[in-house]
Amino acid sequence: MAASHTARQRALRELAARHGEEFELLLQVERLKLGLTPERPPRAEHGTRSKYQSGCHCADCRSAEAAYRKERTRLNAARLAADPTLKPHGRLSTYTQWGCRCVYCRRAMRDYQQAAA
Ligand SMILES: [Zn+2]
Ligand SMILES: [Zn+2]
Repeated sequence: MAASHTARQRALRELAARHGEEFELLLQVERLKLGLTPERPPRAEHGTRSKYQSGCHCADCRSAEAAYRKERTRLNAARLAADPTLKPHGRLSTYTQWGCRCVYCRRAMRDYQQAAA
């Protein structure tokens, strides 16, 4: 039973490989039925960091990027807390990207904000 199931899957894979173009066309037809055209890609693609990095700055993709940055900063902050020698302090990047709030990094941030003002 299991063997024939596997054989069927293999046959389907071979079929898909041989008729790749037809399958792609069928896929496009299905997309068109859903109202998705090449100009309007599936919504699932949005709200991802890779989409944001490929140039889409729609609200969904921006929030995906923001969530990634927030999570990265959180992880970096945990690493830095475990080993404060990991990054030099008194730097803006340590404050923003590593979430460090030591007196030196806070001062660097204050200096930066005053310079920008
Ligand atoms: Zn987008
Ligand atoms: Zn610091």
